[in-house]
Amino acid sequence: METEKRTVIVTGSSRGIGKAIAKAFAQMGANVVLNGRKEISPEVIEEIEQAGAAVHTIIGDISDFDFAKKLIDETKEVFGSVDVLVNNAGITQDTLLVRMSPEDFDRTLSINLTGTFNTIRHAAKVMLKQKSGTIINLSSVVGLTGNIGQANYSASKAGILGLTKSAARELASRGITVNAVAPGFVASDMTKVLNERVREGILSQIPLKRLAEPEEIAETVLFLSNQSYITGQVINVDGGMVMNG
Ligand code: NAD
Repeated sequence: METEKRTVIVTGSSRGIGKAIAKAFAQMGANVVLNGRKEISPEVIEEIEQAGAAVHTIIGDISDFDFAKKLIDETKEVFGSVDVLVNNAGITQDTLLVRMSPEDFDRTLSINLTGTFNTIRHAAKVMLKQKSGTIINLSSVVGLTGNIGQANYSASKAGILGLTKSAARELASRGITVNAVAPGFVASDMTKVLNERVREGILSQIPLKRLAEPEEIAETVLFLSNQSYITGQVINVDGGMVMNG
């Protein structure tokens, strides 16, 4: 399998979808770089190691341009290359538009969108030199549809789609692919906070009538990382919420 010996960075891999993505790559024998804004628990690190990976952890905030450089440079130093970059780190700060402060808007944009730009910006340099690499960005179905109470989050996730397509066009001549995955609602800490009424409302919009498991998102990321002729695409993993075509 092609994944073997590749070096994979997964931002925001201390838990949830990012952790599932890191584990999926670890099971393929990849070198895995874990990242989170704060400390990653020894249990999580051990779980990824036991799945089969050489693991290196780099803690820090991807919205900081200099930290993003450190993330890429240190990965190259430790493992010798940056083959797959998964931009998974993200936050929500939900509130209605009329109550949303400029700070709520900017913070979400700076982590979700600018953070994704920051890591791509530095990884692209390494990948261009290597003449290989693949980048997968986590968007969201609400980046396509919008959502009540998520003007900041939806804008950041829609922005990721434009960023993905522009990067795909710019980097394609060196064989580098850039794609996005747009999950619907996934069972993770991000959605645990939803109350029963909101949860029922969500389920009524999902044809498959359940939330996704983080592993189902990870499988799609792994699939994309193994494709050499798919670039600039957005794959919805949303139980049928948005049907394109
Ligand atoms: P989560 O809240 O469980 O985990 C988020 C991770 O990102 C954590 O590891 C956290 O440490 C990290 N993180 C947050 N801010 C960071 C920063 N500034 N720098 C570095 N790391 C940071 O989230 P999740 O549900 O696992 O979601 C993962 C990704 O998938 C996010 O981009 C999210 O927007 C997207 N997504 C989630 C859902 C869902 O229903 N859970 C749906 C669509 C898209």
